[in-house]
Amino acid sequence: MSEKKTFITKEKAEEIAKTYPTPFYLYDEKGMRENAKKVYEAFSWNKGFREYFAVKATPNPFLLKILKEYGCGTDCASIAELKMAKACGFAPDEIMFSSNDTPREDYEYAAKIGAIINLDDITHIGFLDDILDGKWPETISCRFNPGGYFKMGNDIMDNPGDSKYGMTREQIKEAFSVLKEKGVKHFGIHAFLASNTVTNDYYPTLARQLFELAVELKDETGADIKFINLSGGVGIAYRPDQEDNDILVIGEGVRKAYEDVLVSQGMDDIKIYTEMGRFMMAPYGVLVTRAIHEKHIYKEYIGVDACAANLMRPAIYGAYHHITVLGKENEPEDHLYDVTGSLCENSDKFAIDRKLPKVDMGDLLVIHDAGAHGYSMGYNYNGKLKCAELLLKEDGSVEMIRRAETLDDYFATFDFCDLLKNHEDI
Ligand SMILES: *Cc1c(COP(=O)(O)O)cnc(C)c1O
Repeated sequence: MSEKKTFITKEKAEEIAKTYPTPFYLYDEKGMRENAKKVYEAFSWNKGFREYFAVKATPNPFLLKILKEYGCGTDCASIAELKMAKACGFAPDEIMFSSNDTPREDYEYAAKIGAIINLDDITHIGFLDDILDGKWPETISCRFNPGGYFKMGNDIMDNPGDSKYGMTREQIKEAFSVLKEKGVKHFGIHAFLASNTVTNDYYPTLARQLFELAVELKDETGADIKFINLSGGVGIAYRPDQEDNDILVIGEGVRKAYEDVLVSQGMDDIKIYTEMGRFMMAPYGVLVTRAIHEKHIYKEYIGVDACAANLMRPAIYGAYHHITVLGKENEPEDHLYDVTGSLCENSDKFAIDRKLPKVDMGDLLVIHDAGAHGYSMGYNYNGKLKCAELLLKEDGSVEMIRRAETLDDYFATFDFCDLLKNHEDI
């Protein structure tokens, strides 16, 4: 069972709301630091281990710089993410470029800053050859897709055969051979085969498969394999009835597979890389929102001042996010509500048929586990503006790490015409 406690009290949240109106994202510096430290502890047995934080999960330079202190790099998939990583001072080998369907200019920029390129497809070799003018970097990584179902025991975890990513077994072998001829000296293998796994066995199972693949590819192509990138997919317990992953157990499981498969083959200098997003940040960010309406029709509704534009996961995946009504943590959950945002979309509900304590107008609600794939997925549907991101620092102070959008921001792409320039007067 996961204890769904918040890191913020009603008093503190009300105090913050005086300066930064709701809704806002709040990140817990202490929690994210402790977790990052633990991740490095879990893989300390592997010389050269690095977590390349998946920037798309929480693309905020203030947070990236905190992760950097622990030795984390970044995993980027676009020019914007690459630029953010570069601006934060990440060194070339601390920037992984794991893109797909990659535009030419993204590759050009990745190559320019010397990021490690992780090729999603074999056809990208020709595409990139042209961009690089045949001058390949020493190290290239390739993304693998084994097809079929990804199973653990009898459980189907995910369906790589239906996913657009990566190369087939035959293609990755050919890619390594071709790249070797082009002068690439060192290779990485990458795979992301299941998302948001809530089991300590995902990484170890994936690692064993990739380690075996590494042994085979080395045999077949003579490639010097330098790292294996387990990518993302380590999940968190969004629901109170789920069990949290234990990264120390996960690290130990990967170590066991490493010893069994790689060390026994004399391949004991391969570095383990990860690209976790969710596990690094999700529990350490919340969306704080205020109840502004109640509605009693065929169901009971609580309307809050945040909406799916701030946090999209419930609307698009039906994802569960735990909700705490601040100040009522110990009251009985004896009311049944749909908690909704204001979009003209019936899917804009943070919770459906959720048992909560009685919610009164003005109550502050904390939407849990929004620290990854939360703010970053936000959009501007219905002309809704994205809210601020705040950091609750270890000393209890609060720092704004991204301001809220304004109407000026929303209208900025019309700046070539005068129509909305003086929107204040409209
Ligand atoms: C999204 C993504 C990740 C992070 O996934 P999480 O589920 O947040 O751990 C890592 N690597 C790649 C290539 C991704 O696309």
